[in-house]
Amino acid sequence: MRKFNFCAGPAALPEPVLRQAQEELLDWQGVGCSVMEVSHRSPEFTTVAEEAEQDLRDLLRIPDNYRVLFLQGGATGQFSAIPWNLLGGERKSADYIHTGQWAEKAIKEARRYGTVNIVASSEDRNFSYAPAADAWQESPDAAYFHYTPNETIGGVEFPYIPEVRSPLVADMSSTILSQPIPVDKFGFIYAGAQKNIGPSGIAVGIVRDDLLDQALPNIPRSLSWKVAADGQSMDNTPPTFAWYLSGLVFKWLKAQGGVEAMAALSLQKSRLLYDFLDRSDFYSSPVAVDSRSRMNVPFVLADDSLDKRFLKESEEAGLLALKGHRSVGGMRASLYNAVPLEAVEALVAFMADFERRNG
Ligand code: PMP
Repeated sequence: MRKFNFCAGPAALPEPVLRQAQEELLDWQGVGCSVMEVSHRSPEFTTVAEEAEQDLRDLLRIPDNYRVLFLQGGATGQFSAIPWNLLGGERKSADYIHTGQWAEKAIKEARRYGTVNIVASSEDRNFSYAPAADAWQESPDAAYFHYTPNETIGGVEFPYIPEVRSPLVADMSSTILSQPIPVDKFGFIYAGAQKNIGPSGIAVGIVRDDLLDQALPNIPRSLSWKVAADGQSMDNTPPTFAWYLSGLVFKWLKAQGGVEAMAALSLQKSRLLYDFLDRSDFYSSPVAVDSRSRMNVPFVLADDSLDKRFLKESEEAGLLALKGHRSVGGMRASLYNAVPLEAVEALVAFMADFERRNG
């Protein structure tokens, strides 16, 4: 029996995708072995790779002057790779917005290679909101501008896309494919797969092609977007199973109506939960109303001595992984694309019942 899974990542995958993978596991496409056991350069796998790219291009309407990269090292690999790939030109500094733990990790990494200018920070209110653009201190000559559109731990989502002078770089790990995005406003978009794309072990990068020649000269080969782009993301052996499963998720997304359908569904799911939280004195959301994430919904119980019981009983009710991140405590429900509306309905019903019994 599959339960409702609210894990922040690795997260729920669509059940039809898992079933297809299961059916094809031993004998994939009549090849006589699994997709994991064939060469990444075989014609069969090449088709998987090409279709995954094309489906992602279709879903996000990626313009032709952008390269789609399937990368390793997760999103962490990418926020480490960004300064290597973009600080080799004339401009040696970068702008960053500090909105929480993922932004902070990216900032720390960039500081090792260049000057980092913190354009705005939400630290003053414990990272509970997305800073408004009117208070920014953008630098005149940054190589790029980095932000985290959705902070997975804090549950803070930008309600707008920053308009900036330098190429805009976005960590979309926990928001990609949950709504349409104007890709042409960005220089580089990246995302670890294990939330809205597929299993962990692969990351997606979408880079504007004029940014492929800005790398530091001594960039490690494995971090270079140019090497990845020139080698069709196969400069070394890629994580073929994760790539294949991501491709199945893209096809599933298309069949669901694409990112437009996901945008409508994610609003419906998150509103259901936020409306319930706002009506209750027993639970509350720590995030500013205009910055509340559609993907990750942190909430707290007014009496935190009930946290343990809440987690135990929710688990028993078939609602998995509601514990907040270890650094912040409380609860968090992640509502990625593969989490159905029924899961959120079941969660709200459980929460109402728990409140009745303990309030
Ligand atoms: N950025 C964000 C916004 C994330 O949510 C995560 C993972 N939770 C990461 C970066 C790090 O991803 P990875 O573990 O793939 O390196």
